[in-house]
Amino acid sequence: MYPARFEYTAASTLEEVIATLSERGDEAKVLAGGQSLIPLMKLRFATPEVLVDLNGVPGLDYLEERGGELCIGALVRHKTCEKSELLRSRYPTLGDAAPQISDPLVRNRGTVCGSLAHGDPQGDWGAVMLATRASVVARGPEGERTISIDDLLDGPFTTTLSPDEVITEARVPDPGARSGGTYLKLERKVGDYATAAVAVQVTLDNGSVGEVGIALTGVGPTNLRAAAAEDALRGGEPSEAAIAEAARLAAEAAQPQSDIRGTADYKRSVVRVFTERGLRTAVARATGEE
Ligand SMILES: Cc1cc2nc3c(=O)[nH]c(=O)nc-3n(C[C@H](O)[C@H](O)[C@H](O)COP(=O)(O)OP(=O)(O)OC[C@H]3O[C@@H](n4cnc5c(N)ncnc54)[C@H](O)[C@@H]3O)c2cc1C
Repeated sequence: MYPARFEYTAASTLEEVIATLSERGDEAKVLAGGQSLIPLMKLRFATPEVLVDLNGVPGLDYLEERGGELCIGALVRHKTCEKSELLRSRYPTLGDAAPQISDPLVRNRGTVCGSLAHGDPQGDWGAVMLATRASVVARGPEGERTISIDDLLDGPFTTTLSPDEVITEARVPDPGARSGGTYLKLERKVGDYATAAVAVQVTLDNGSVGEVGIALTGVGPTNLRAAAAEDALRGGEPSEAAIAEAARLAAEAAQPQSDIRGTADYKRSVVRVFTERGLRTAVARATGEE
């Protein structure tokens, strides 16, 4: 199917993007990688009157550490993350997730920030950013604000961004020494969205769990933080019993629905098993055993 008729504007500055968004409000949409927006327009689930193309705005394609954070510019593609040695070595939750997003065609064009702005509960980056306690920088006519990922994700395909705001950057705090993480995803075939997936990150403090992040994909109306599982682990030893209890609590936090990818019970069980495996890997990486 063809999309409904729309105007197309190729912006060359962020100011132009914001001006068009302010002028046209809900009628306008930012175009980044187009990997979610264009299919929705072709299905006529989205019928924006104007697309503001971000791809010609210089200075948004950077993936670098700055001031104790990993900064991911709005035009950083999944492919750049997949190939990044920095992510593999220092941000393994991100490094493990990137190659599992769809297929090479989607990874070549789709952006991390576009994925977060889209708010798809099946999106992989949302869970990764929850586990790593990331935030996004949004710029609008009133200036810039930083939004924690917990506050950004509001519901299925819904975020707390205003229609006139654009995400310019995602920021992931440096997890520090003695940290580890991973992303485990079950998909029916390569390129599919997750049946269920789990992102974890652990930082050890004198042998105990200092900070911990556990988040889920595809088992709720948004990516979900397994807060009770995190609380159960924090401050204690990462023993097998503690990991098993955290995995049980993560499965309890899941709100899966039965669909073509599996039954709710099956997905909950995947969450439990993946949380357990993910935490073991994270701890092994944090202690340098892997
Ligand atoms: C076949 C297929 C399989 C896929 N499988 C997966 C998968 O397994 N896992 C996964 O996570 N994703 C998957 N995706 C989605 C893919 O990752 C998209 O790239 C991503 O969801 C959106 O990023 P984008 O840059 O393409 O955004 P676009 O499609 O350009 O935009 C998506 C939405 O976000 C808004 N937007 C984009 N950038 C910004 C910004 N900087 N500021 C404000 N708003 C913005 C747009 O206006 C639009 O509403 C798949 C897509 C396809 C087509």
